[in-house]
Amino acid sequence: MAKQTKISLIIFYFLLCFQSKGLPFDEKGWKSEKSTHFIVYYKEADGKFVRQSVDKAEEYYKSIAENLGFTRYDFWLWDKRAKIYIYNDAVDYRKATGKPSWSGGAAYYHEKVIETYPWAQGFFHSLLPHELGHIIFREFVGSENNAPVWLDEGVAMYQEKLKRFNLKTKLLQALEQGKLMPLNKLSELNIAFVNDKEIVELYYLEALSAVDYLLNKFGRDNFVELCRLLKERKTFDQSINGAYRVFKNLEDLNKAWLRYIKE
Ligand SMILES: [Zn+2]
Repeated sequence: MAKQTKISLIIFYFLLCFQSKGLPFDEKGWKSEKSTHFIVYYKEADGKFVRQSVDKAEEYYKSIAENLGFTRYDFWLWDKRAKIYIYNDAVDYRKATGKPSWSGGAAYYHEKVIETYPWAQGFFHSLLPHELGHIIFREFVGSENNAPVWLDEGVAMYQEKLKRFNLKTKLLQALEQGKLMPLNKLSELNIAFVNDKEIVELYYLEALSAVDYLLNKFGRDNFVELCRLLKERKTFDQSINGAYRVFKNLEDLNKAWLRYIKE
């Protein structure tokens, strides 16, 4: 994928983060394939793609819940299942959703709905795990939470295995060039309004790295506790201190995370 497209995709994910469709999603005229946590709707899409979507979605559901430590919370059964709509092709998708076809898909977190079309570029390895990461995280922390956006994005990025490639090198390079932003800067930034692509890309990579640090250095139990405290609307400083006694606040986390990058 060209760099330009990759950055556009990253931005695209973000722009959809707080979006809600407003209209109910239709089931009429769609065929469906059901699994434990998902219902996949399609019309003329290739059966192989439909099957693969069901399998991949279940596979990611399991791995995301596992890597975040949310396995005890099985929130999506039966009528709460997430829905994936597969349009016939890129033209059909674009016509029905008004989205550019290069996006490969769109997600509506509130409705737990993902839309795509067969063999859209990046759907299985990028968009699907990223968006499921958001949906699962938000299901856990609830709609009235105090989680910073970078944590939400970091969790979503963490699900895209390819994004971890060369992560350390890129961050060290940014650090050397004096471009690396401290975590409190990430909390202050309203990334939806940032036009500088370099800053946007760095924001996502740093968010990913911070989540990677928390999960890999301290494990899942502390991370679940952090999310639980944010769900209870404790401030970030209170939550990070409550879940990880070694950090008094975000600044402490930032210092430790910087050391981790340099390791
Ligand atoms: Zn995202």
